[in-house]
Amino acid sequence: MTQEELFKKLVAHCKEYGFVFPSSEIYDGLGAVYDYGQNGVELKNNIKRYWWDSMVKLHENIVGLDAAIFMHPKTWEASGHVSAFNDPLIDNKDSKKRYRADVLIEDWMAKIDEKIEKEVAKAKKRFGESFDEEKFRATSPRVQEEVAKREAVHTRFANAMNDNDLAELRQIILDCEIACPISGTRNWTEVRQFNLMFSTQMGSTAEGANTIYLRPETAQGIFVNFLNVQKTGRMKIPFGIAQIGKAFRNEIVARQFVFRMREFEQMEMQFFVRPGTEMQWWNEWKNTRMAWHRALGFGDENYQFHDHDKLAHYANAATDIEYKFPFGFKEVEGIHSRTDFDLSNHQKFSGKKMTYFDPETGESYVPYVVETSIGVDRMFLQVMSAAYTDEKLENGDSRIVLKFPAALAPVKVAVLPLVKKDGMPEKAQEIVNQLKYDFNVVYEEKDSVGKRYRRQDAIGTPFCVTVDGQTLEDNTVTVRHRDTMEQERVSIDRLHAMVEEECSYRKLYKKLNL
Ligand code: ATP
Repeated sequence: MTQEELFKKLVAHCKEYGFVFPSSEIYDGLGAVYDYGQNGVELKNNIKRYWWDSMVKLHENIVGLDAAIFMHPKTWEASGHVSAFNDPLIDNKDSKKRYRADVLIEDWMAKIDEKIEKEVAKAKKRFGESFDEEKFRATSPRVQEEVAKREAVHTRFANAMNDNDLAELRQIILDCEIACPISGTRNWTEVRQFNLMFSTQMGSTAEGANTIYLRPETAQGIFVNFLNVQKTGRMKIPFGIAQIGKAFRNEIVARQFVFRMREFEQMEMQFFVRPGTEMQWWNEWKNTRMAWHRALGFGDENYQFHDHDKLAHYANAATDIEYKFPFGFKEVEGIHSRTDFDLSNHQKFSGKKMTYFDPETGESYVPYVVETSIGVDRMFLQVMSAAYTDEKLENGDSRIVLKFPAALAPVKVAVLPLVKKDGMPEKAQEIVNQLKYDFNVVYEEKDSVGKRYRRQDAIGTPFCVTVDGQTLEDNTVTVRHRDTMEQERVSIDRLHAMVEEECSYRKLYKKLNL
């Protein structure tokens, strides 16, 4: 199966098993907007809890906030979003399709990288044991040629992005002979800037109304509350403010399912530090955040850092944590050193002081900020992609199983009476009642037990508990484990402790060493 087919299957699975539906589907959906179903919302909530606890509970110097989506319009002038939150777009005149110019070029570079890796893999196969990969990369004329081609374009691209040189971006697209995937032609328009913010009106009449924006990031709600939180919480620098909430961007190219949406959710933490210490904190947060991802156990080799070629208008250092999605390594989280850009600008635009008095140095200053910013929906897709497993079984059958870390699984336990009689449903219901205050538990009596196991595998339930004739005699049940499919006989009294041990977040938190 190609990666593309795999991704299609994953998207279909999300819909079939109640994880994600297209928004307002009965009206044929709305571009790049999605709804989360009964299992999706549980997984999403569990991801949010994992993030929130790791920030707010496990750090004494980080507190939470829940700011409004609507903010005073001046916020977005101060933050630079009105003038600079743009994407360069280009249209193909034949297909009339619109693309992000930067994404077209990045995809072209990724293809060259793929070519290089294929060359290396081919040589590895050819030379076997004696293959010296480093030497091959350094000496193979074919590899060298591709590397040089990529590097030349990469340098031009980075310069064009940093200088906002739209004509040069177009020229790169022409020089690389990039064609529209739909029409196959290279009949491109000029490159134009496109602002990504949604606007709406506040006020009862259009005349007296104010144009306001739907926030494109949650961070500004934190900045404008910086002093409220610092003073009322008596916070001392360094300290952080964490927030989870919706953000809105009018993305030009909406594709790849919940990877790029127009309405999405962010988990952002702004860490306020003494000026001059920001690089040290930036490095520290890079490591802390990478450890958070890796603790989920999806394989360290599937994550990488990617430093930005173009720094956003507010940043002096930025890196992304990328995950190997079925469509390649892509950003899940950004870690940015935002300097004092935001607080200083809010000070300028509002006329209110944004300074902090540092009792240790006796100085007042506008703090510097290191931000960690992760999309809930992208994280959701990351977890889904990593967990989705198409498994061939020994008896020739196959099954789709979602191998979630147990703490994130939407349902922890399914309780199944073997048959719908002889007191088994009642006993099963008793078990549900015993567990439901602490865990998300479902009761299922329809179809054969084998079919019910498969349905639970498909939503990633770690435990299936079957009540049978023996249960009524000795108070034991069969517990079937999702990943190994092993079954064991367990006393009902032990069930709670067993589920607790496996599904607790504590296991994950301990790996973080916080
Ligand atoms: P990209 O380059 O993919 O457009 P970005 O660099 O603009 O992303 P940031 O502004 O750094 O993204 O936002 C922080 C995080 O928010 C991203 O790492 C991503 O997880 C999430 N995010 C941003 N835009 C979207 C979107 N349109 N849909 C879903 N998640 C998003």
